[in-house]
Amino acid sequence: MSGTSVEVVIIGGGPVGLTAAIALAGAGVETALVARPAGAPDNRTTALLASSVTALDTLGVWPRCRDDAAPLRIMRIIDDTARLLRAPEVHFAAREIGLDAFGYNIENRFLIAALDARARALRALTFIEDDACAVAIEASSVTVELRNGAALSARLAIGADGHRSLCRSAAGIATDGRRYPQTALTFNLGHQRPHQDGSTEFHTPSGPFTLVPLPGRRSSLVMVVDPGAAARIAALPETELACEIERRSHSILGRMEPEPGRGAFPLATQTARRFAVARMALVGEAAHLLPPIGAQGLNLGLRDAATIGELVVATRRDGGDVGGTDLADRYDGSRRRDVTSRAFAVDLLNRSLLSDFLPLQGARGFGLFLMERIGPLRRALMRESIAPAAAPPRLMRGELL
Ligand SMILES: Cc1cc2nc3c(=O)[nH]c(=O)nc-3n(C[C@H](O)[C@H](O)[C@H](O)COP(=O)(O)OP(=O)(O)OC[C@H]3O[C@@H](n4cnc5c(N)ncnc54)[C@H](O)[C@@H]3O)c2cc1C
Repeated sequence: MSGTSVEVVIIGGGPVGLTAAIALAGAGVETALVARPAGAPDNRTTALLASSVTALDTLGVWPRCRDDAAPLRIMRIIDDTARLLRAPEVHFAAREIGLDAFGYNIENRFLIAALDARARALRALTFIEDDACAVAIEASSVTVELRNGAALSARLAIGADGHRSLCRSAAGIATDGRRYPQTALTFNLGHQRPHQDGSTEFHTPSGPFTLVPLPGRRSSLVMVVDPGAAARIAALPETELACEIERRSHSILGRMEPEPGRGAFPLATQTARRFAVARMALVGEAAHLLPPIGAQGLNLGLRDAATIGELVVATRRDGGDVGGTDLADRYDGSRRRDVTSRAFAVDLLNRSLLSDFLPLQGARGFGLFLMERIGPLRRALMRESIAPAAAPPRLMRGELL
């Protein structure tokens, strides 16, 4: 492979890198995907919002995994802080905004398997199962060195290599962010009562405790607590864990049966100061890391992949340079508002839960109160959380690149 040259090289075979690869290679762009061989299976699930499902359907991925996903028709937020200023329960129904479902919740392993199978069927895509060790950005090309000693050059590199991105460092892009004194404990469980296609997010003083439906009488749990509590709860024997979860969920789904496999994710927020420079664009967690609140992280990442795909295909069609400064500026400009507004809202909501500052708690309660009472406000928020109202990428509108 030494000396191989392609138009675009993508580093990172997570869900965002795979989606970018499918979008580009599906439109005929000669693309290479450098994907580190998969590690231990991930028990997490992803709530994919409706516009992300449309994009995956347009790319031929969704038919490969839709049977493994559960619709999300109702979302409830319950203030479980027992504080002086508490918010009313807020209830969002997809049919209020004319949708059958807000989206679908799916185990990451099924989503990644569907993306992987679709990607491998594309002739314009070269799959390289290896690690990128170094990335060198030059004036008219970018070179990626692989662990096996080979090198690969391209007009544009797309960094989809997660929140500790080598690509981001190679491009000299700094980040802003903070760590939270919280860990998200994740696992899936069976339960006695049906979830009726509804997710429930309890707001507790340590963070959200969220149950999201899976097919059948199963749900996924994301429980945000302090790191000590996360370690203690994760180590509980199964029967004690089942009681603890039933207690924390106020028995809304009845008796619980935790499935094997626990995940623990320290919470942080991080945003790259630039999402692209000449020869390098960042997508997914390489560009932005958010706490898992409100199902925004991967949905944002899929919009990054759809946007960079659209810009590359359009630039190429017009005879332009797909790795040039012009494309980098347009990509950064297209993604910045969507990412920063959501990162800000998620950070504020999370900090209002942790804070002892009464006015901040009051503001959160008042915001939720307004949402519960004022239908147009609630509907506007529901529409905006599914996708930005302003200029969604073509794939999110069901149009091929
Ligand atoms: C508990 C939890 C729940 C979540 N729930 C939701 C949800 O419901 N909805 C939602 O939208 N988002 C959710 N998210 C966020 C979502 O999981 C992430 O946004 C998403 O996984 C990011 O995907 P990615 O492809 O950008 O990065 P990753 O999944 O981190 O993939 C990066 C890939 O790059 C590879 N890589 C790294 N370095 C190299 C290298 N040098 N060479 C080759 N390969 C490399 C890695 O091995 C990995 O495969 C959740 C997150 C957490 C922690």
